[in-house]
Amino acid sequence: MIIIMNSNATRDQIDEVEKRLIDLGFQTHPIFGEIKTVIGAIGDKRLLNTQDISNMPGVESLVPIMKPYKLAGKELKKEPTVVKVGDVEIGGKEVVIMAGPCAIENEETYIGTAIKVKESGAKILRGGAFKPRTSPYAFQGLEEDGLKIMAKARDITGLVLVTEVVDTRDVDLIASYADIIQIGARNMQNFKLLHEVGLTNKPILLKRGLAATIEEWLMAAEYIMAAGNSNIILCERGIRTYETATRNTIDISAIPLVKELSHLPIVVDPSHATGSWKYVNALSKGAVATGADGLIIEVHSDPSNALCDGPQSLRPSKFDQLVNELRPVAEAVGRSL
Ligand code: PEP
Ligand code: MN
Repeated sequence: MIIIMNSNATRDQIDEVEKRLIDLGFQTHPIFGEIKTVIGAIGDKRLLNTQDISNMPGVESLVPIMKPYKLAGKELKKEPTVVKVGDVEIGGKEVVIMAGPCAIENEETYIGTAIKVKESGAKILRGGAFKPRTSPYAFQGLEEDGLKIMAKARDITGLVLVTEVVDTRDVDLIASYADIIQIGARNMQNFKLLHEVGLTNKPILLKRGLAATIEEWLMAAEYIMAAGNSNIILCERGIRTYETATRNTIDISAIPLVKELSHLPIVVDPSHATGSWKYVNALSKGAVATGADGLIIEVHSDPSNALCDGPQSLRPSKFDQLVNELRPVAEAVGRSL
């Protein structure tokens, strides 16, 4: 339920309504912006009814939100959310390219790759320092040393950093280095972790779970928003299907669907979606043509010796070619790059 306040409601009236809602056992969320002309009351015991609000000062009407994702959906907020990180905007006119290796392996190659992807037009630098791997015996990341290398790459290139958090105990550490915190596919329904990153003021890149429906994905975004953080970028990274010819199956239909259901921006990760560098170029173009607000692409200077996800990583020269080929595609759909 959303309570719409009169346009001339005073701050005292808004505070009074909020207090009474809390007394009635509802959670209140001042929605989108500092001026609380709208108060969202999210009830966990029963729905708010017109009687509850009949004698509340300054209230104009009560509007139900029918979708389970109250804050992430379009009922409450129709205009697209533009996530701003430094001078980069995700969800605006520009298609934003995020690139970098799967994992930070060492300073020299990471910084070398960072410089190259920046020269090609990437705005955001990716890299995992805490690597959740299928095998416990595989390389697990450089942890804080990796974050330090990322920070150095940011100093040198000016790129914005995105890196994954896999444990609630590391949220503060990662937030102290990262500009955008990534929630990986395997943690999309780690509700404690979603809540913890929702308490930070960092934008969140929320990857779709391996077997998550779009509704489950939006509900994961809702967890982050319910904790107070509305700066979320959704990331389609392929879902598990019966097809084994690719690592995952990219769900291109998720792009227009998410745009219809949510105001949040959506980017696509064609690298994890396919598992093979050969398809990254074509699928990146498909994603941009379908309305994606950005791409996150794995780039490695020496894919055959990468510690992680080499087969799906583009060499810097192929990445450069891709960005150039993407420009006319972006322009064809009214975007820039
Ligand atoms: C990653 O981006 O490094 C990653 C592990 O991706 P995903 O969570 O989509 O598998
Ligand atoms: Mn990877």
